[in-house]
Order: sequence, then structure tokens, then C-alpha cells
Amino acid sequence: MHRRTDGIVIAIDGPSGAGKSTIARLLADRLGYIQIDTGAMYRAAALLLAVAGVDLDDLVAVERFCADLNIELDVVSGRQVVRGNGVDVTDQIRTPEMSLLTSRTSTLKPVRDALLKAQQLMGRRGGVVLEGRDIGTVVFPDAEIKFFLSASVDERAKRRFEELTAKGEPVTLADTIEDVIKRDRQDSERDIAPLKQSDDAILIDSSRLSVEDVLTVMMEVCQNKIKAMESLS
Ligand code: C5P
Repeated sequence: MHRRTDGIVIAIDGPSGAGKSTIARLLADRLGYIQIDTGAMYRAAALLLAVAGVDLDDLVAVERFCADLNIELDVVSGRQVVRGNGVDVTDQIRTPEMSLLTSRTSTLKPVRDALLKAQQLMGRRGGVVLEGRDIGTVVFPDAEIKFFLSASVDERAKRRFEELTAKGEPVTLADTIEDVIKRDRQDSERDIAPLKQSDDAILIDSSRLSVEDVLTVMMEVCQNKIKAMESLS
């Protein structure tokens, strides 16, 4: 294991719409840690592949494209910014079409290999909260803390629907439920790094919990772990 000089690694995995991004951001803020939204990285990769017109069935072409792929996460004036090959793609990657396309491109091995390496490099010093689907199982199987954040399909679809309509996206609740189910299936049934709860992850069902409730539970686990690690060093 690479020496963690900046703190521990906290993994938050779970299906789409469980509240991972909000929770990861708040948890990172409270701990003074860096949030790494790996979903945003997969979204940016999907967008760049689409813009470049790469044939997703041609894995050699995908691999060639991924060799030069550079995805950066940054915070500018308190707002998370995602850059793909130097271009700000923050807003473009958040549409329902991009969600489904990302679920498809994230099944491709060259894409996963490239982003796996980038994520391990970004988090290796610790002091990070990584959120995604495979953080506790593949990216950081040695993470000091692993959470699996879930919620019922109806609750997740309702949250996603409210988020999208607030942004003016013309979606219906029925379509959003269908998209959530489709994405769950694509993410859990893929061969490489499927969405799966790690055996040693703490399961939190957020269906009936507020953001503050979830944070309270997580903060207690994190503070206990950090204290225990500090007393050892
Ligand atoms: O978390 P978010 O909904 O933004 O992720 C978008 C998509 O990126 C997911 O549906 C999944 O297909 C993919 N993803 C992944 N592995 C991760 C994070 C996201 O495959 N660690």
C-alpha cells in the first residue's frame, strides 16, 4: 500500500440517485478532505468519446483514444468543475442521455483501465472521499472505510426527477424510473467492476433518512477511525 500522508481513504459506492454526490461533498468538506466524483470522470470520458465519434465496438480505437485521455476534477469558487482534455464539460455531462451513454461506455475495458489508474493516482495519498460503483471493490479495496449507500428505486427516481426538473430538463417521472432501472441493470450486470457491495462495506439505506441523518452516521464512523489511526501513529 502507498503510504497515506494526507489522511485515510473513504469509499462511498452505490447505485445512481442514492445521494452519493451530495453526501460525499459534505463529508469531504467536514473532514477537510478532497471529494473525487468518479461518476463525473466516466461521464466526461463518455462525452469525449461521443464528440470524437469513436466507434464503441472498435476496442482498439477506444484504447487508442483512452491513451491520451486526461480528466481533471477541480473546485472553482466552490463549484465542482470537470475538465476533459482541457475542456470544461461540467454541465454537458449531466443530461439523462449522457447518463445512459455513460452506463454503456463504462462497460468498456480500455475506459475502465484508464480511469482506474487515474483514480488510484488521485487518491493514493489519502485525505479523500471517493464515490462511485467500484471504489471499495476495485479502485481502493484497501480503503480504511467503505460505505455502500442505497435507497429504493422509487425514492432514487423521485430524487433524480426533482433534480432534473429543477434544471429545466423535460423529463417525466415514469421515464426517470425506467432510466434508473435500466442503469442499475447495466451497472450491476457488466463483466468488469460491476456495482456490488464490498463484503466489508457499511450498508446505509437512505430511503427514509435525511442528508443530515446519513452524514451523522458517516461522520461518527470516520471520526472514530481517524482517531484510532492517529493513536497508532
Ligand atoms: O455516479 P454517476 O451517476 O454520475 O455515474 C454515471 C455512470 O458512470 C454510472 O451509471 C456508471 O455506469 C459509471 N460509473 C462506473 N464506475 C464508477 C462510477 C460511475 O462505472 N466508479
